[in-house]
Amino acid sequence: MGTGKSKALYKKALGIMPGGVNSPVRAFKAVGGFPLFISKAKGPRLYDVDGNAYIDYVLSWGPLILGHAHPAVVKALKAAADKGTSFGAPSPLEIDLAELVMAAYPSIQKIRMVNSGTEATMSALRAARGFTGRDKIIKFEGCYHGHADGLLVRAGSGAATFGVPDSPGVPKSYARNTITLPFNDAKTFREMLNREGKSIAAVIVEPVVGNIGCVLPRAGFLETLRKETKKHGIVLIFDEVMTGFRVSYGGAQAHYGIKPDMTCLGKVIGGGLPVGAYGGRKDIMSVISPEGPVYQAGTLSGNPLAMTAGIETLKILSRKSTYETLEKTMRRLEKGLTEAAKKAGVTTRFYRAGTMFCTYFTGTDVVDWETAKTADREKFARFFRGMLERGINLAPSQFEAGFISLAHANKDIDETVNAAYEVLCGLKD
Ligand SMILES: *Cc1c(COP(=O)(O)O)cnc(C)c1O
Repeated sequence: MGTGKSKALYKKALGIMPGGVNSPVRAFKAVGGFPLFISKAKGPRLYDVDGNAYIDYVLSWGPLILGHAHPAVVKALKAAADKGTSFGAPSPLEIDLAELVMAAYPSIQKIRMVNSGTEATMSALRAARGFTGRDKIIKFEGCYHGHADGLLVRAGSGAATFGVPDSPGVPKSYARNTITLPFNDAKTFREMLNREGKSIAAVIVEPVVGNIGCVLPRAGFLETLRKETKKHGIVLIFDEVMTGFRVSYGGAQAHYGIKPDMTCLGKVIGGGLPVGAYGGRKDIMSVISPEGPVYQAGTLSGNPLAMTAGIETLKILSRKSTYETLEKTMRRLEKGLTEAAKKAGVTTRFYRAGTMFCTYFTGTDVVDWETAKTADREKFARFFRGMLERGINLAPSQFEAGFISLAHANKDIDETVNAAYEVLCGLKD
């Protein structure tokens, strides 16, 4: 089937929005061609304006763990919209979503809702700085924590895809307070804290790095972060915007058994609407206005539509059978993709944490940003295009995680694996 309508819309959009898109990775720059314009989505599938259907492994970059337009979420949203889209005043829905989240993340003793993951990390860092009275922060290479100034340093997929390590427009004075260290390197981390510990407010980390594909923490790495930050009075922030409710219901912190001081959430907790949240230790969160002096606000924060989508999503996720089903589907895909690569004679490394995953086109074990960069991006681009032609939508960059949803049926997985085998046969080493 053709993609003429998408192409025409893209051409038009180029004159209207920077790069024709409202978020850079959507633009297919890393894989060639032009983005598809989507008219609707249902379950595991996206439908473009030309009428083509695609099994979707992007899922709006992670949030749609129930699949697109889940009937329970849509129904609740319609009912909520009838009652008003925003109150600018407290509503019981905010408490309901907060309690669902806090029950799953016992490390969160107090929480605040915001509108995106970017706002969550930005605000958590402000709280940590206000609490400690220190300015510097540590982040890790390849970790993306949203696009706030000072966090756009060695920040994963977007920057990796476009080859811009640090974004212009970020004052040097901001970036100066950001120390960047290699992920999974406990020794370098320990040495840095011994030198700079007293001036560091926070350490922020993606406990599983999803913004350069899917990089798992080495045994002991997260434990070292926990132990050393505690020793130096530094706030440990887990950015679980992607991993939250994704790696497990309790996120990476439940999976790895680490209790951070603060947690950032987003994506899944909004059920496809714009939501972020940050929270953590009561004493730290008490610095936030109006309880404390650290200012943070939002006109639409906690709005009833966003809360409703989140509540309905978490209600379904909290059923025990949900993650069992997700795990089974994920295993089928993992097995299928790794066997297809082997059979086709293409060297890959497959990683996953819960239902986020990445196939790297490399023979090197991927443990950090340097090793992720060994992946053959050209080969990935060919794989991506071949899959898209066969009706499978992957994220358009080697350095993005893929996701599955509850709506992905075995036959969808099998169709995907068959397509992958065909494409991989054309990519032999
Ligand atoms: C997506 C993401 C963010 C940013 O969230 P937005 O809602 O896009 O602002 C922050 N941190 C991580 C780990 C993410 O994956």
